[in-house]
Amino acid sequence: MIPKSHPRYDSLMTRELIVKGVRNGITGTQGLIAQGRGEAFDYLIGEKTTESAFRAEKVAAAKLLLARKPVISVNGNVAALVPYELIRLSELVNAPLEVNLFHRTEERVNKIIAHLRSLGAKNILRRSDALIPGLEHERAKVDSHGIFAADVVLVPLEDGDRCKALLEMGKTVIAIDLNPLSRTAQCATVTIVDNIIRAIPNISKFAEELKELEQEQLLDTIREYDNKQTLFLAIEEINKNLNSFAARLCCVKDLEYRI
Ligand code: ATP
Ligand code: MG
Repeated sequence: MIPKSHPRYDSLMTRELIVKGVRNGITGTQGLIAQGRGEAFDYLIGEKTTESAFRAEKVAAAKLLLARKPVISVNGNVAALVPYELIRLSELVNAPLEVNLFHRTEERVNKIIAHLRSLGAKNILRRSDALIPGLEHERAKVDSHGIFAADVVLVPLEDGDRCKALLEMGKTVIAIDLNPLSRTAQCATVTIVDNIIRAIPNISKFAEELKELEQEQLLDTIREYDNKQTLFLAIEEINKNLNSFAARLCCVKDLEYRI
């Protein structure tokens, strides 16, 4: 039992969710490694939603609302960490949830679907009757009425190769990835450099607000968006945090000498 007073309570509780996901057969063991990498980057961005991530979350909400056929991709980490929040977002923007695993087994797909259904999800896609071109067979499998046909795909924690292949199919890809240097982050149409735990509720909050707007106003929200700038600002935030960590350890004279 982790005491609430522990300074890293939230982070440790998140870790517990992933471990529970692995124990229940929802999350793959590789998911533990992905979470660890995410945690390291979350530390560097200050474990908070930055201004630029808020902006990307708003743009993501607008793109999902404007989409003709939006789909939300669900993997084992996402199902373990934010199942309720994902179901809520799926209902708000009218986007089905498609279980899509990098390390796919039918057993794990079934377990994730049962888990989501038990929490109230109704709109779930699960077929694997189409292939994303350019990827090796197992990793290419998608639902012909879901990701394959979608114009906008939200892929929280996606792999770089698949992100690229989805873009090559002409889709708008919204990625949530704490690592601004990953291939996924670098190639997505909109990259949300934030922890999925914070990102999904934020996107839902923006979707609720933006739902009231006319299409023209929604288009205004996304018009000026520049993903390279989002990545630049995320890296700048990390630099700023590293500099202030370093400054706390060194005296000013020492820093001046090194510069
Ligand atoms: P890429 O294939 O895009 O180059 P990668 O191989 O470094 O990335 P993967 O294991 O394919 O990484 O994907 C996991 C990604 O998900 C990592 O970049 C990690 O930072 C990110 N990640 C892990 N947990 C979270 C989380 N809770 N919230 C947001 N991002 C996360
Ligand atoms: Mg990868």
